[in-house]
Formats: sequence, structure tokens, C-alpha cells
Amino acid sequence: MERWVEETLHGGFRVRLKADRVHFDSQTEHQHLVIFENSDFGRVMMLDGVVQLSTKDEFVYHEMMAHVPLFAHGGAKKALVIGGGDGGVLREVLKHPEVVSATLCEIDRSVIDLACEHFPEISAGALDDKRTRVVIADGTTFVRETDERFDVIMVDSTDPIGPGAVLFTKEFYAGCRRALKPGGILVTQNGLPFLQGPQLKQSIGYFRDLFDDSSAYLATTPSYFGGSMSYGWATDDKTLRRHKLETIERRYEKAGSFATRYWRPDMQRAAFALPTYIRELVEA
Ligand code: SAM
Repeated sequence: MERWVEETLHGGFRVRLKADRVHFDSQTEHQHLVIFENSDFGRVMMLDGVVQLSTKDEFVYHEMMAHVPLFAHGGAKKALVIGGGDGGVLREVLKHPEVVSATLCEIDRSVIDLACEHFPEISAGALDDKRTRVVIADGTTFVRETDERFDVIMVDSTDPIGPGAVLFTKEFYAGCRRALKPGGILVTQNGLPFLQGPQLKQSIGYFRDLFDDSSAYLATTPSYFGGSMSYGWATDDKTLRRHKLETIERRYEKAGSFATRYWRPDMQRAAFALPTYIRELVEA
């Protein structure tokens, strides 16, 4: 019997994906996890009825979450990934030779273990890199209590449902600010502005109260159904998202011009060019 798996995130909008083969379908300690094969998107991971990644387009999201803040910073040594148990953002972070330590703080051990088993090409050895430290904890507790300070914090979270809801609160963002070095950058998975506009507006509002510069950038990952995905941006250094193209090109060259399939120096600036309906959410 044909099986179709439904994404249930949005009120009036559902997407169904055909599951040619189901590899895993069960409750973990924190959420419901399904892994299956789909002819259009490849191998797909869903948590609590929401697509987290697909092997055919994961490069878009992971490259844009890692390279935009790291090349904007230009000297990041210590990186923190909150969530991100599939290891995709970590993989991209570790392409930067200047990064000497990368901490992954993930609440659900099962996501890491099952991603290693069913998506080894996503983390591509990043979890075993000597610069990597894995912490199994709630991100809100980690940023509130850590003694460490980071140059860049990337919040690769689920949506504001289940264990991910706390990662969209002002308390959590204040904890991130606490855990950042001066001039550090916070970027957050902030949903699809067309369908989750109020969520983006609220997060940017919190950023505005906590940081000197707040905005968002965009990229489109086809399996995040509903248009562009937004990445929240917060820092005290207003120059970081306004670098000239030549500056980013020089930094990319210095980093060894490693292979990418979506991010490019010119995409760095372009990603911050927001269409009016999103600009109105971000600049309210
Ligand atoms: N890129 C995906 C997206 O945009 O929807 C997210 C992928 S990643 C798998 C999301 C991870 O966030 C999951 O592994 C989940 O367990 C983790 N997560 C959710 N809530 C968390 C929390 N409070 N602290 C740390 N990790 C959390």
C-alpha cells in the first residue's frame, strides 16, 4: 500500500510526500522522528510532522546558516551550533580553517545517532573532528549557564513547537547575547516569512531590544514548503552585514575557496536584500 507522509506545520496548508521506503518512524525522548525515501527530495527527515532536511537540497540551508555569519565576522575562532543534530551546519562551519572549536548543543541524542546512521553524508565526519564538542542539553540552559564565549552562534532549531518553542523566546536570545563575545553574531532559523511572518517579526523585535543591529537574510530551500526561509541576524557591529563584495571574496580565498553549491560571495550581500513584505516585518 502506498504511504504518504504529511507535513502538518501550517494551519491551512498541508504537503504530502510519498514514502517509497520508511527507514525509521518512532517517538524519541523529545519528539516524533520519521526517516524515509522520496523520489523528488531523496532521503528525508521529519520531526513532529515537519521536514527538517532532505538530501537533495540540504546544502542550501546549511551553507547559508554557516557561511554568512562566519564570513561576515572574518575572524571567528569559536562557534556554537544550537540544535543541528544532523550535523549539516557543523560540516560547513568546519570548512573554515580559522575555526578552532565548534560546539554542538543538541537536546535529542537520538537525532544525532539516527542522522549518523541514515545520513552519514550530511555530517560527513564533522562529529568526529577534533575541533568538535557535542553537548546533549536544552539550548536555553546551555547559553544561560556556559562560561564560554563564542564568536558566532547559529540556532539550527526546529520550529516553535515541542522542544523548539523555547528557542524563540526573549530569554533564550538574551542567553545567546550573554554567551557571545563582543562583536559576536547570532543567526537563527526563523521560518518562512510568507506563512510564519508574526514569528519573524517577534524574534526581530526581541533582537532590537538586545542588540544594536538586527535584521534577516533569506534563502530558498525547496523542501521547506512555502517560499523563502528567513535567518534572523543580530549583532552589535553594524558593519558586519554591509561588507563590500571584495572583502568577502578576499576572506573566501583566504579560507581556501572551499566547494559550495549555494553560498557564494555575491550571495552574501544579496541575501540581505529583502522584498517589501518581509522588510516590513523586519524593520517595523
Ligand atoms: N534545519 C531544520 C529546520 O530548519 O527546520 C532544523 C534541523 S535540526 C535537525 C533541528 C534540531 O533542533 C533537532 O535535532 C532538535 O532536536 C533540536 N532542538 C529542538 N529544540 C531544542 C532545544 N531546546 N535545545 C537544543 N536543541 C533543540
